[in-house]
Amino acid sequence: MKQIHHWINGRSEPGSSSQTSAVFDPSLGIQTGEVRLAGKSELDSAILFAKAAAHEWRRSSLSARTAVLFRFQQLLDSHREELAEAVTHEHGKVFSDAMGEVARGIENVEFSCGVAQQLKGEFSQQVSAGIDVHTVLQPLGVVAGITPFNFPVMVPLWMMANAVASGNAFILKPSEKDPSPSILLATLLSQAGLPDGVFSVVHGDKSLVNLILEHPAIDAVSFVGSTPVAEHVYEVGTRSGKRVQALGGAKNHMVVLPDADVASAADAAVSAGYGSAGERCMAVSVVVAVGGIADSLVEAIATRIPDITIGPGTDPKSEMGPLVTAEHRSKVASFLDGTAIQGADLVVDGRKADVPTDGYFLGCSLIDRVQPGMRVYEEEIFGPVLSVVRVANFDDAVALVNANQYGNGVALFTRDGGAARQFEFEIEVGMVGINVSVPVPVGFYSFGGWKSSLFGDTPIYGPAGIRFYTRQKVVTTRWPDPASSTVDLGFPQTR
Ligand code: NAD
Repeated sequence: MKQIHHWINGRSEPGSSSQTSAVFDPSLGIQTGEVRLAGKSELDSAILFAKAAAHEWRRSSLSARTAVLFRFQQLLDSHREELAEAVTHEHGKVFSDAMGEVARGIENVEFSCGVAQQLKGEFSQQVSAGIDVHTVLQPLGVVAGITPFNFPVMVPLWMMANAVASGNAFILKPSEKDPSPSILLATLLSQAGLPDGVFSVVHGDKSLVNLILEHPAIDAVSFVGSTPVAEHVYEVGTRSGKRVQALGGAKNHMVVLPDADVASAADAAVSAGYGSAGERCMAVSVVVAVGGIADSLVEAIATRIPDITIGPGTDPKSEMGPLVTAEHRSKVASFLDGTAIQGADLVVDGRKADVPTDGYFLGCSLIDRVQPGMRVYEEEIFGPVLSVVRVANFDDAVALVNANQYGNGVALFTRDGGAARQFEFEIEVGMVGINVSVPVPVGFYSFGGWKSSLFGDTPIYGPAGIRFYTRQKVVTTRWPDPASSTVDLGFPQTR
């Protein structure tokens, strides 16, 4: 059985806690590993080394830091397959999807290689006679990242690349469900020449998260996960005086206007709804069929479902893998029960699909005539279940999306530029796709939802990531001529 340890001070560290958590291969339904769960002593040790490392690291030149990041980018590039395999074995997503995750993660490292440009301050000459002002952006110190199971490579890279580039030490608490990829990242960072202690991994569950949130030596916390936990992390972390960004769950709508091309919209809904078995925070969960397009759209989606090849992530023929755990599979299946969908029409029931019997597989489901108030509409499912809500017109579609508690992603499918522009203006969602069903921003923009999808005011990665991991200092400078120096008790004035 594989033993997964922490990564502290540049090396693998089993720690002294005897607590462990089982790691499974979701395609096989068997335990393949055991991850050590850190207690206070492992966290304290990681923080001690991180503090010492941060003290030196913030003093290193920008070019020395980016040289490490360029080497890290090259190592990630040459280890894409190894990383993707580790993801497939513990998360279950198909290998091609895992390769996509790795590629999107590398984008964040590439952005961080340009940190010197991002850290440029402002300068104003002669704000008063002989006085200049400039700003500098300085690192916070020791920052922590708490990440979800669904992107065990990409989400840690969303955080750590900018945190480290800005001169901080970073402590990662990955999901205990798929912990191995984080150790691969740590190994590559070491090979890239990152000094020991600048990046650490401590594995753990919610009790470790609470220790992190209350630890006085941690200056900021980035969190990505479900909304109830995001809210908790934001409340406890900010109460403990930390800077916190906490990204939560989602219920992403894809609005299809009557003028849209039905075949393209159906292809997009199926890809975005069932890709990664629906375990993406930007997955489409609700198709909003506007006006007369509903019947043909539902039929087009339903006819595509039997063609999806469901199987182990390691099989190159598989397009969709299993869910992450047996418990999660049961939870997703419970959304297909009578009470969750009462009054709706279960067009395709994924429980009846022909899927492998080992592992946590569930077929794709399609539910038509869903309405707000139904459990299947109100809650995040995080599985291969697509709901269709029928609305009469554009305004009703916008009102439906805006009334939803989540505001992560939304997509509009149309051929009408004016409608698209109005949609972009009116919609209360953080990331919008126009004929793009999964509008995850590229690495040089920033990612963040609205409403219950983000607690805190800073989105993650890209320019916003640099802002989150730095604080601004404003310096006012004068080089007076001693000959003209006088005592003046008045408040300094510029005119
Ligand atoms: P989760 O909230 O269960 O876990 C996330 C992290 O928090 C893990 O590291 C876990 O160990 C820890 N944790 C779990 N329960 C906790 C608790 N009660 N107290 C403190 N810490 C706790 O999320 P998950 O199941 O790993 O991931 C799926 C969720 O993440 C979905 O809701 C999905 O929408 C969301 N997600 C959001 C984004 C985004 O960018 N908004 C991206 C990816 C995933």
